[in-house]
Amino acid sequence: IERTLSIIKPDATRRNLTGKIAAKFEDAGLRIVASKRIHLSPAQAGKFYEVHKDRPFYGELVEFMASEPVVVQVLEGENAIAKNREVMGATNPANADEGTIRKEFALSMGENSVHGSDAADTAKEEIAFFFSGLELV
Ligand code: ATP
Ligand code: MG
Repeated sequence: IERTLSIIKPDATRRNLTGKIAAKFEDAGLRIVASKRIHLSPAQAGKFYEVHKDRPFYGELVEFMASEPVVVQVLEGENAIAKNREVMGATNPANADEGTIRKEFALSMGENSVHGSDAADTAKEEIAFFFSGLELV
């Protein structure tokens, strides 16, 4: 059994899509084992996305992620990391498969509704970034 970190991004929380997106996770067999709504500061968003700091879209990405509240969740299940990325769909919604979250809800490459950890080591780091041991059962 595996755990992964999901973020429902500001474009989605703003449009009241939290429940519809969470239902996609649950329908895919992922269990939501922790969940909270937070408003990241630009410094916190910058730290979270530090791996992308040299990419041309970094400034825009950080500003967007700190623009409005997000919902951070820990998802659990068999192959949760890969399964979540499958449900999310491609980064660019134009390339996302039918039935995926990004196909259905994303507005653009930047405002693409969800984040999901991409590997076991990043999942561990990202879960610890947002949740303390006390918040995880
Ligand atoms: P995420 O890490 O959010 O789950 P991802 O792994 O599919 O998405 P990454 O390549 O890690 O994609 O990029 C991180 C995020 O940066 C993307 O989800 C998107 O919001 C933003 N992003 C990536 N490429 C671009 C781009 N060319 N223009 C604008 N924003 C971008
Ligand atoms: Mg990524």
